[in-house]
Formats: sequence, C-alpha cells, structure tokens
Amino acid sequence: MACSTQDVIAAVRAGAEAVAAHREELNQLDRAIGDADHGENLDRGFQAVVSKLGGAADETPASVLKMTATVLISTVGGAAGPLYGTAFLRAATAVGSAGELDGPAVAGALQAGLEGVVARGRAETGDKTMVDALAPAVEAAKSAAASGAGPADVLAAAAQAAQEGAQSTEPLVARKGRASYLGERSAGHLDPGARSTALLLSSFAESARSRS
Ligand code: ADP
Ligand code: MG
Repeated sequence: MACSTQDVIAAVRAGAEAVAAHREELNQLDRAIGDADHGENLDRGFQAVVSKLGGAADETPASVLKMTATVLISTVGGAAGPLYGTAFLRAATAVGSAGELDGPAVAGALQAGLEGVVARGRAETGDKTMVDALAPAVEAAKSAAASGAGPADVLAAAAQAAQEGAQSTEPLVARKGRASYLGERSAGHLDPGARSTALLLSSFAESARSRS
C-alpha cells in the first residue's frame, strides 16, 4: 500500500514519540562523548514539529517533510539540527509533488536524505556519526524497493540496517563532530546521532506497518 500524506504525518508523530521516550537515553549517550544535549535537542525540535501538524503544511508528503525540515533547522540547534533538517529537506525535494509514495519513492527519499547529511557534514561511513546508521539503511531500503517491497517493508529493512549500523559505531573512534575532540577516548560508546537515526527509522517503520 502506498504512503499517503496522513501516513507521513503519522510517521512524523511516531518519530516525535520515540524521541521523547528515548530522550534521556540519547542525552546519556551524548554525555559520554559529547555535551549531553542530543536527546533534549531532538525532543525540543520534534515537539515543535508536532505542534505545527494539523496546519497548512498537511497538504502533500513533501509539504509535511519540508515543514519538518524547517522547524528542525530552526529549533534543534547543535550539529544534529541542520543535519536532520537538511535530510528532511532533501527528502521533500525528492518526493516532489506526489500525493502518495510507493516503495521506490520512500527509498529515494531516504537516499536523498543521506546525500543531504553527507553534503552538509562531510562524514563518511566509519566516522562514528549518524551516517553509519543512515548509509546502510539506504542500501537496505533500495534493495527492498528493487525487489518489489512497499513503503512499510522498505522502512522495516531500513530500520533493521540502521539498528545494526548504530551498533557498529561502538568500537569506532569519532572523526567528525564534538566526539572527535576526544580522539581514542570516543571508542567504546555508541554514537548518539546514529542511535537517534535508528530510533527514528524504527518508529517510521512501526507506524507504516500499523497503518498498512
Ligand atoms: P552537538 O554535537 O552540537 O551537541 P548533537 O549532540 O545534537 O549536537 O548531535 C551530535 C550528533 O551529530 C553526533 O552523535 C553525530 O551523529 C552527529 N554529527 C555530528 N557531526 C556530524 C557530521 N559532520 N556529519 C554527520 N553527523 C554528524
Ligand atoms: Mg550534543
């Protein structure tokens, strides 16, 4: 089943709930290798996004994604705000004026999001950032879409790969962002942004599954 504007809205709400539920966990991860604000930054941003739902932006998948992007950019702050904001903005552009998204459109939106994060932050896989979760998620999403999966299964494949990708950041030494200031001492901790990417994708997948 294709993904409608209402499905995108439901996914964004589910993302906000997941961030709120894991706010302290994300702060704790960021306390170990950063400044302990990742959960609070994202929670502030997603609550602001949710407060704008039900308004003029609820028109197409792209308009919801674009509103999400602009609100995240203006409210999250830190490194993650502009990075997630750019991801949602590129995803909005990728889906264009479509009223409903099929599997390949969802995979394309995720790929565009990854390209936005990389264009903005210049991180590569293995740098211990959100890219370590998002890049394998995009690969999994693309191969699921290529074998005919619909949006819910594309998102489920992405979420599973993101989960594994986030876990893979634990032994890595950070080469980008605040955690890179710690050098070797950043090893032995999960990257908070990789964890939040996995959480968001899981919540989108769960939402899509429950509505399909
Ligand atoms: P800040 O580091 O400014 O306090 P946050 O704590 O909200 O911002 O976000 C930190 C997360 O941002 C990191 O865990 C990492 O995943 C991500 N991040 C930081 N710099 C980059 C970058 N250049 N590219 C991709 N992701 C990055
Ligand atoms: Mg931080």
